[in-house]
Amino acid sequence: LAVFDLDSTLFDLSLRVGAIVDEFIEAAARAGRLGGRERAALERLQITRHDWGLEGPLARVGLNQAADQALARELLALWRTRFFSNRYLSRDVPLEGSVDYVQKLHRAGAQILYLTGRDRPGMWDGTWASLLETGFPLDQPGTDLVLKSHAGVDDAEFKAEVLCDLAARHDRIVLFENEPVNINRVEKALPGKVHYIFVATAHSGLESLQPEVEVIHDFTLRPGSAEED
Ligand SMILES: [Mg+2]
Repeated sequence: LAVFDLDSTLFDLSLRVGAIVDEFIEAAARAGRLGGRERAALERLQITRHDWGLEGPLARVGLNQAADQALARELLALWRTRFFSNRYLSRDVPLEGSVDYVQKLHRAGAQILYLTGRDRPGMWDGTWASLLETGFPLDQPGTDLVLKSHAGVDDAEFKAEVLCDLAARHDRIVLFENEPVNINRVEKALPGKVHYIFVATAHSGLESLQPEVEVIHDFTLRPGSAEED
């Protein structure tokens, strides 16, 4: 069983976030709520796959959450409603090599499970469409997509629970995941049962990885270390 997280594991989210920022600039400028300095800074703002949230990108263009609190708060509020919705999921780009890699595993007979902290009511349609459009195997035998029943469910608890239910039916489980909190929670629930591949894109920074966890930077599968990021 090969289990793949989606956000920042199979998909680079930077264009999704960029589209939300663009929409914010347009709406705020139209409403006359954006000064020249703020607008110029926001237009320079670049999101990379290594950004976790908006604090880093805002700081890089000279906007910080203390001096530009109202602006940052407004942008974050829009980000929260739009990021966790179907609306921009078509912007997500697969990480290098990921589509080929998952297809190859599927053809070789692995069961493919997409297991994501996205929620079913708000994000099912866009998730299904973006997986199909980008060419990931889906809607065929040996593939499954599982989302949270609602947005309030804790991601790590949810993933541990789903994998505990499946564990008895599979000899080998591999989990591809970018968030150490999720890896650590699954390992606590299923000690020694799951093999982990950490995808070093962006993560919350709340927990660290056990040193034995394998690290990749994309699905061209060049070896690397977590410290590089
Ligand atoms: Mg993720």
